[in-house]
Amino acid sequence: MDRARAPRVTPDARRASPLAADTPADRAAALPKVVLHEHLDGALRIETLLALLQERGIEPPARDARALAGWLDANAHAGSLERFLEGFALTVAAMAAPAALARVAREVAEDALAEGAVLAEFRIAPLLFEPYGQSGDAVVEALLEGLAACPALPSGLILCAMRHLPPTETVRAAQLALRFAGRPVRPGGPAVVGFDLAGAELGHPCSEHAQALALVRRAGLPMTLHAGEADAAERVLEAARHGARRVGHGVRLADALADPARRHLVDEVRARGLHLEVCPTSNVHTGAAASIAAHPITALWRAGVSLSVHTDNPLFSRTSSSAEAGALMRETPLTEADLLAMTRQAAAASFLGTSVRERALRRIDAASADLQATVTTLAPSTSNRTTTAR
Ligand SMILES: [Zn+2]
Repeated sequence: MDRARAPRVTPDARRASPLAADTPADRAAALPKVVLHEHLDGALRIETLLALLQERGIEPPARDARALAGWLDANAHAGSLERFLEGFALTVAAMAAPAALARVAREVAEDALAEGAVLAEFRIAPLLFEPYGQSGDAVVEALLEGLAACPALPSGLILCAMRHLPPTETVRAAQLALRFAGRPVRPGGPAVVGFDLAGAELGHPCSEHAQALALVRRAGLPMTLHAGEADAAERVLEAARHGARRVGHGVRLADALADPARRHLVDEVRARGLHLEVCPTSNVHTGAAASIAAHPITALWRAGVSLSVHTDNPLFSRTSSSAEAGALMRETPLTEADLLAMTRQAAAASFLGTSVRERALRRIDAASADLQATVTTLAPSTSNRTTTAR
């Protein structure tokens, strides 16, 4: 979906019963959402990116929103990490001022709310802004202010470290996260709730950053680590052994499903209750999946793995939470009931506080009850559907 042209979902549309809508897109828009995996510097509104570039006197690679969206899209699909990273270089340069950071955080939270989000965790690597004269602490403060400006959405911030940088840099990012952990800039407002390793996975396993991960683990700050996207299924378990409670992507775990010698990896993921944050369109764009129809999410779900659906970088992938749900309903056997059950698992796996998670779960359960009351014929039940309380 072209996010620059995508119509915003109205509150009335969200309040409607999912089955009152006709198309998969309408039904997907009506579902409640939980955001666990969305990078703020990959989630700006295209109009905001253009405005911020202009404010900072940076010449944009294209003059209008449509052409700029096309440039970002072409880079994201170029099959080159360097080209892909050019998009982030542009958004980071545009955001490198406290007011801009706060604006982006607020707008991304507002967009998530408009998509039906009942809870959201957004992420970013604050130290990327240091070359622009912004300290990590100032960046985090500005982002938390921005999230606090959207009080209708319970949210938190995950700080990323870039795994291709030396371990000393990852330790600095971890120390920054720990300085802000559970410390909102406004009473009762959003805080740093987690830590992540982002960037090029291949050649930079979690173990390369064991020191930083141990710091975070010992301090009790929850971790979600990108793993099993560009590298093998074994990396998912490696992330868990370093303390990750959730894993970004993890889709290569599906390779182990078809291999009796590695099937135990799936069993261990299930036994640990590890939750996978799956980003279908992003996976197609990076080559981790051939297409939405061929995406391993269905196989992993049928195997009883806890997982949910996310956008990763909606600006670059031209997607949204509703577009991801709609694409899965259209192109895979997954149903609204499956997506609601996944969203329930996402809320349960959130790093936000107990009362926030329980409120989100109640809202998702209300939508599930609404769906069950309306549906006259459901697809055959699966183990996931009968154990959605996990
Ligand atoms: Zn990601």
